[in-house]
Amino acid sequence: MQTQTYRQLDRDHHLHPFTDFKALAEEGSRIVTHAEGIYIHDSEGHRILDAMAGLWCVNLGYGREELVEAATAQLRELPYYNNFFKSTHPPAVKLAEALCRLAPPHMNRVFFTGSGSEANDTVLRMVRRYWALEGKSDKQWVIARDNAYHGSTVAGLSLGGMAPMHAQGGPTVPKIAHVRQPYWFGEGRDTSPDAFGRECAAALEAKILELGEENVAAFIAEPVQGAGGAIIPPQSYWPAVKEVLARYDILLVVDEVICGFGRLGEWFGSVHYGLEPDLMPIAKGLSSGYLPIGGVLVGDRIAETLIERGGEFFHGFTYSGHPACAAVALKNLELMQAEGIVERVRDDVGPYLAERWATLAGHPLVGEARSLGLIGALELVDPATGERFAKSLGAGTLCRDICFDHGLVMRSVGDTMIISPPLVITRAEIDELVRLAREALDETARRLA
Ligand code: PLP
Repeated sequence: MQTQTYRQLDRDHHLHPFTDFKALAEEGSRIVTHAEGIYIHDSEGHRILDAMAGLWCVNLGYGREELVEAATAQLRELPYYNNFFKSTHPPAVKLAEALCRLAPPHMNRVFFTGSGSEANDTVLRMVRRYWALEGKSDKQWVIARDNAYHGSTVAGLSLGGMAPMHAQGGPTVPKIAHVRQPYWFGEGRDTSPDAFGRECAAALEAKILELGEENVAAFIAEPVQGAGGAIIPPQSYWPAVKEVLARYDILLVVDEVICGFGRLGEWFGSVHYGLEPDLMPIAKGLSSGYLPIGGVLVGDRIAETLIERGGEFFHGFTYSGHPACAAVALKNLELMQAEGIVERVRDDVGPYLAERWATLAGHPLVGEARSLGLIGALELVDPATGERFAKSLGAGTLCRDICFDHGLVMRSVGDTMIISPPLVITRAEIDELVRLAREALDETARRLA
């Protein structure tokens, strides 16, 4: 089929996620047809460096035959059976064991879901159930953060702090509060990063006191905010949050959907920041995005209560631990271990990206260049003032579109440009990424001048 035919059919029948339907109908979609390594190809013959790993998920890169083999072998053997009631199947059991071996030592159970959003729905139900079983059923409030992303289901969007999603969402799930995010460049530049990190932790404590400790069930946060703009918190933030949480009996939920599976140079972002979460929602990199699967890693404290006192947990999804998805995830974890992918991010390509990415800070359009492991961001500013551009100029969107034209997928969140490339990216490919980003910045600067 030709590009124009695809575009027409797409326009006529397909409502895309997170898309302005009318704008898409006017502009037409990009048809991605195949991919290998860190490159995608479109129907018009362009080869594009995918610095977003799809949607932060294709950690092992495209075209891994071993993952295709794992899926097909499992589909032949047992394409579907569920894990409901008292059944299971080998891939789900093996994956559960493998995951718990990689997770922090106090996490020895996993509940499978089909996605990160379903994982966060599961989190919400688990924390409230846990406290009810502990005889503290008033503990229902969950504190999350402004501009956090926890998914698109009603619970996911309620936990998330995305203002435009809340504006469209109608009534959200009750008893979820939001506190300020540790976004120094965006909200804290009148003070030092460390002072700002402590202020954000203090805001969490103030919210706990306002709601009453006896009413607060959990605090949920991403180690590094992804969709909010690759926001790496100031060094002081997580230690200060840990201190606050230690003063009160409140569960910690660390959303590892993006940071899990090597993105920050450890198996989990929680390990990088020395956190001991009670629950960790996971997805994306778990299967390198080859098949949809998510889950919640459950700490012993919660698991013991749910198991010993909970009776039946009336919760689950048809595709919880789907055999083919579980087989692919298992193979993905095996490959990551065999190839030392996580160590490579920590000791080699992560530091190399940091060094190369930092050179972009000297570009007139860049107010800040930050990265950690293989996640990074550039803050676009007006060279004349060093401050943000007027929103109406759409500098970020312009830069994103120019990136595409230059053969680079770099996403924009407002005027923040973000990257999260496949973890298998090489040093030479990082050089190419940074070169393409610089070219796109030059072109963006020319067009905005
Ligand atoms: N949590 C975080 C931190 C995410 O970034 C995402 C997706 O981007 C989700 C949850 C939702 O995952 P899914 O899109 O698989 O439902």
